[in-house]
Amino acid sequence: METKQQRIYGEEWMEQTSEGVSLIVSECQSCGSNWFPKKEICPDCFSTDYRTKPLEGEGEIYSFTTLTVTSKEFQAPLTIAYIDYPGNVRVCGQIEGDKVGIGEKVEIVLGKIAEDRDGTDVYSYKFKVVE
Ligand SMILES: [Zn+2]
Repeated sequence: METKQQRIYGEEWMEQTSEGVSLIVSECQSCGSNWFPKKEICPDCFSTDYRTKPLEGEGEIYSFTTLTVTSKEFQAPLTIAYIDYPGNVRVCGQIEGDKVGIGEKVEIVLGKIAEDRDGTDVYSYKFKVVE
């Protein structure tokens, strides 16, 4: 049986833990703001002094939209959401689940987000509504 090619997108933004996938946040050491993915210069205070740390706390859907038409790499319908975390971190990503709605709690999972034109499955972090 032929095995399908796979690759991970954004590996430098994630950490695999015993509990699943965790995202890496940059905390500005000058003003304390948190960013995902990492920024070279803090958009709030222009400092370049950062410390990285795992994204912590419970994520909550801030907003979302469902695409009914996508480019070939993605499979429609595709729902994209902004998720808010404690410490003013807002993360964008694909989301799955039957109960996608503003204010719903989510978890981070590693899942298929796309398929390259050569048929390679692309995996990355995505969100799943907690039932
Ligand atoms: Zn800053």
